[in-house]
Amino acid sequence: MLIFELMNFEKIKKLNELINASENIVIIPHTSPDGDAIGSCLALYNVLKIINKSSHVVSPNKAPDFLNWTPGFDKITYYDTEKERCKKLISNSDLIFTLDFNDLSRIGELKEVLNQSNSKTVMIDHHQNPKDYADLIFSNSEIGSTCELLYEIFVLIGFESKLNKDISSCLYLGMMTDTGSFQYSSVSSRTHEIISSLFNKKIDHNFIYNKVYNDSSASRLKVLGSALNSLTHIKELNTVYMSLKRDELEKLNYKKGDSEGIVNYGLTLKGVIFCAIFIEDVNVSNNVKISFRSLGNFPCNLYAENHFLGGGHINASGGRFEGNAENAIEKFLKSLPKYKDKLI
Ligand code: 5GP
Ligand code: MN
Repeated sequence: MLIFELMNFEKIKKLNELINASENIVIIPHTSPDGDAIGSCLALYNVLKIINKSSHVVSPNKAPDFLNWTPGFDKITYYDTEKERCKKLISNSDLIFTLDFNDLSRIGELKEVLNQSNSKTVMIDHHQNPKDYADLIFSNSEIGSTCELLYEIFVLIGFESKLNKDISSCLYLGMMTDTGSFQYSSVSSRTHEIISSLFNKKIDHNFIYNKVYNDSSASRLKVLGSALNSLTHIKELNTVYMSLKRDELEKLNYKKGDSEGIVNYGLTLKGVIFCAIFIEDVNVSNNVKISFRSLGNFPCNLYAENHFLGGGHINASGGRFEGNAENAIEKFLKSLPKYKDKLI
């Protein structure tokens, strides 16, 4: 903890100055925000409210419904449906936080709006290889979630006493979802110390878990069934893949968020260390969203970067492909033998 504190002393001082000097703050998560993105943005939003700073969360697009209980969720403004309002909030701002991403390509069209803004920018993120677009960068890829990193920053900046039940619930959400409910190797004793302090703020961890994981719609379960049905096991390479086609998704009444987390089921098959899911976009033709997961040292992030215009973490990454799922899978199968030594 001490090393972290010394390294960041100057940065924390600068962050404090930036917040103090700002009147209008905007907080931005990545496109298709997940639990960590929404949790970190709303934790910061609620902290700023307590210190009487006006802030707005501007998201590139909608977050899944199972996050709609998060304190402050109803105050989020969405760029895809309220462009003019979002542009105004950004042009009126003097400070912008970008949370849970480190490359402006992760916010789609909102990138142009940010490029035209004169506001100071602060990045807080835990992905590898941050791009150099912000005035102040807090980036640590050893920490399992942006929410955990944000908690450390709150402590260093002296906001610990302001972390009430609402803010603690937001932080718990991101820490829980980005660690696969505390199972990934990124989880440390410090993670659990922080969870302990959040429990002391009387968070309802059971409520949060149930909201996120036990709140499935029938369509979500049917989409899961369809993905599992498509599962192909490449036994000699300890790899599995699944796919969801556009016409199938339409038939199953697919809604955004229904496919979230399905990829993880691939790793539950004995011996498997690498899995992928190919999901055809129901709104944009010829666009496939791909998620990768691995166990151990197989570098999902490098794989996604090298073959599917993506990136992420060593054990979880994502990317995309122009074409249909069948073509994307063809490319995947062609590339796999090159990784044979890392897969067996
Ligand atoms: P998911 O598969 O859940 O969408 O994403 C897994 C991880 O990979 C997340 O941490 C996410 O930030 C990252 N990721 C997903 N898609 C992309 C992408 O297109 N580009 C980059 N750089 N990272 C991605
Ligand atoms: Mn995250």
